[in-house]
Amino acid sequence: MLENARKILKRYYGYDSFRKGQEKIIDSILKGKDTFAIMPTGAGKSICYQIPSLLLEGLTLVISPLISLMKDQVDGLRSIGMPATFINSSIEFREVRDRINKAINGEIKLLYIAPERLESEGFTQLLEALNISLIAVDEAHCVSEWGHDFRTSYRCIASFIHKLPNRPIVSAFTATATEEVKKDIIELLYLKAPNVYVTGFDRENLYFSVERGVNKKDYILNYLKNNREEVGIIYAATRKEVESIYDILKKQGYKAGKYHAGMSNQDRKHIQDQFIYDDINIIVATNAFGMGIDKSNVRYVIHNNIPKSMEAYYQEAGRAGRDGEPSECILLYAPQDIMLQKYMIEQSIVSEIRQRNEYKKLQAVVDYCHTSKCLRKYILEYFGETDITDECSNCSTCSDDSDLTDITIEAQKIFSCIYRMKERFGATLVAKVLRGSQNKRVRELNLNNLSTYGIMKEYTEKEIKDIINVLIAEGYIGLTQDQYPVVKLKNKAIPVLKGRERVFQRIHKKREKAVQDNSLF
Ligand code: ADP
Repeated sequence: MLENARKILKRYYGYDSFRKGQEKIIDSILKGKDTFAIMPTGAGKSICYQIPSLLLEGLTLVISPLISLMKDQVDGLRSIGMPATFINSSIEFREVRDRINKAINGEIKLLYIAPERLESEGFTQLLEALNISLIAVDEAHCVSEWGHDFRTSYRCIASFIHKLPNRPIVSAFTATATEEVKKDIIELLYLKAPNVYVTGFDRENLYFSVERGVNKKDYILNYLKNNREEVGIIYAATRKEVESIYDILKKQGYKAGKYHAGMSNQDRKHIQDQFIYDDINIIVATNAFGMGIDKSNVRYVIHNNIPKSMEAYYQEAGRAGRDGEPSECILLYAPQDIMLQKYMIEQSIVSEIRQRNEYKKLQAVVDYCHTSKCLRKYILEYFGETDITDECSNCSTCSDDSDLTDITIEAQKIFSCIYRMKERFGATLVAKVLRGSQNKRVRELNLNNLSTYGIMKEYTEKEIKDIINVLIAEGYIGLTQDQYPVVKLKNKAIPVLKGRERVFQRIHKKREKAVQDNSLF
């Protein structure tokens, strides 16, 4: 069977070999096993169900939320000779019947539908007449409230499968891999003893970097000056910020476009097409941009603000370098952005338990911005891959221009202060106490009488908070998952407090220089 799969790969797609994981996933499906594949965006999930659709008897039903892209996807498949079609709300009833009939006759092997269609009993009855051998649930995380894109219609999938006269093989695909989401997908889609594959998260050609404390607009302009003709995406957190960056780029004569949910569908489609067909080479966008866009030559993705989760970050950053050529993923970090993301969480989520979950995910991004670890290792571990080398030599941590600085004394002072404050306050107040601030709250709470009051006078509050963030990212300090998180000491801090272990921070040479220039050390 796998031999045939390879032939199809060559004949239809023109590729010589499978990518990491694809072969195992296809083999599992062809053996009739429920299969759950966790692969990042761009890793090549679609082929994993498209190829089996030709090899299995009957029809493969693909459930995909990307309605606006369905037509393009199916057109693409038809152009390489795959017998595919789609049904969504844009299709008239007579045409729907026609397409279903073609599927019954075997003229169609691959049918894409939008999940909302399963809410209509009339429609599911039509589907029951089909000989469905495989169901592929794309973007399967949409079934979970813990995922980043919950859709109620995904909850109809399991009952639909249950009603079918013969249970097909069920396969699920997602790029989201947190434990809660994984568990939900298996449970809520009723996958039967599935083979689970987590593969291909590493994108070797992507260089990852985090820039802290830079002037973001200057940074972007400087970057573009050196990469004027390259294709790139700049993500910003709000429409306002998109507009502002876009205006600056336009004034400087860049071929840039903007994209956010406040624009009309028509304008958005126009900009997207301009980008895809290389009429413009830079797009400034909110996270509304990019779902399903398969543009291979994106050379950089710059995030002007931190995203809400590592899942969102990796998906957006992963739009760079799909062609395998070296590309850069740069995240510009400023502490204010955390407040913005927290505000968005508060505004959009009511349930307290889900809010906590979102704070936890956000914290993982903040940790990413402060870790001294190899950034690639951090990402791969986050997504559950094991067996990773310690240094990738292709991220800002592993690149040469950084030095390790001993921050043991600072860490000890911070830990003692947290301890003396009885682990009841947030990082900002701890920093104020260490700095010896005259702040009203510090005095009201009598914190100015603590022995640790003012023992880090020579630092700014921001610098102390920066070190606290590093200590959080490195697992010495924990944060409660609340809107106003409280800092707590973890076991790992004890040997440092007792002077048995040292703590190091990676500092970029250029930042160290800036710090020295201000004579802060
Ligand atoms: P995903 O759905 O995981 O985001 P896609 O299925 O859209 O990714 O695949 C991303 C790109 O990789 C597509 O252009 C696809 O044709 C290409 N691709 C997939 N499998 C292979 C392969 N084995 N060899 C070369 N290119 C591949």
